Amino acid sequence: MKFTTAPSAVEPARDFPELLPHGRTAVRLHPRRGAPGTYDSHIGGPPLWPADEAWPDCAGHRDINGRAYPLPLVAVTQLTAADFPELRFPEGTDLVQLLWCPEWHDQPHPAGWGQACRLYWRRADAVTDPLAEPPDPEEHWDHGPDMIPRACVLHPERITDYPGGEELPPALAERFGAWLEERDLPDDLTTVPGHKLGGFMNWCTTDRPGALECGACRSPLELFLQFDTAEWRLGSWGPDGAPHRFRPLEERGREPVDGAEDPAREPVGMTVGRGGHGGLFVCATDPRHPASFFTQ
Ligand SMILES: [Zn+2]
Ligand SMILES: [Zn+2]
Repeated sequence: MKFTTAPSAVEPARDFPELLPHGRTAVRLHPRRGAPGTYDSHIGGPPLWPADEAWPDCAGHRDINGRAYPLPLVAVTQLTAADFPELRFPEGTDLVQLLWCPEWHDQPHPAGWGQACRLYWRRADAVTDPLAEPPDPEEHWDHGPDMIPRACVLHPERITDYPGGEELPPALAERFGAWLEERDLPDDLTTVPGHKLGGFMNWCTTDRPGALECGACRSPLELFLQFDTAEWRLGSWGPDGAPHRFRPLEERGREPVDGAEDPAREPVGMTVGRGGHGGLFVCATDPRHPASFFTQ
């Protein structure tokens, strides 16, 4: 199955050439519920985990008597170099796995997040004896499924993403905003929504933190993986009543439903932040440094 994003009403090469140098390729993941395998790229599927490596716990929990009560992290995503050659895999690795604690603790965790949210960079063929059954989140987490993803297969699509106003030179952001307003056009060009790799995040709820830098080495942080409650917006979008640009062309024949019952619009079934989106940011110098997660 292939999913295709419709073109934007704005064509930067024709309408706004000065935006072009700010474009960056993002990979829309187009997750859809399914039964991914241990060796596949996926969200919420079984990770290729060495049977002899202890499953990591979150140490940030206590029982009613105040004693430490470690809970197993939840496997969130696995991505392979074969599917995503654009990811900067550290030398000797070709597989990355994200595990996290579905409780927020003190996100974005510039310091302590390393414990509750971890990326594992591996070499797939080094895992000769894979764990047959990872811990089942249902058995350990009774806090609700907000941050426990449903098993999804991925259908990557590469598109050009542009930064939102906070990340453009202020004068350019202002000119672009005015240009859209004059034509009564919504912005469907910048900060691509939904699950994606790379590109730019929309800081619509809080301002973008002034210094987005790695807690270990002070290099800039960059968006690695965006999680989103919904893949696209409901309703008509733009002056001609067209559906939201990010609703895949292949799925426009089916009637969308509002909420997690819609497996096309909310395939992962997570409520990110307060129903918005969140970005996992990694160090631009070394993606093995502790990651930070910001929600909007
Ligand atoms: Zn925790
Ligand atoms: Zn760093």
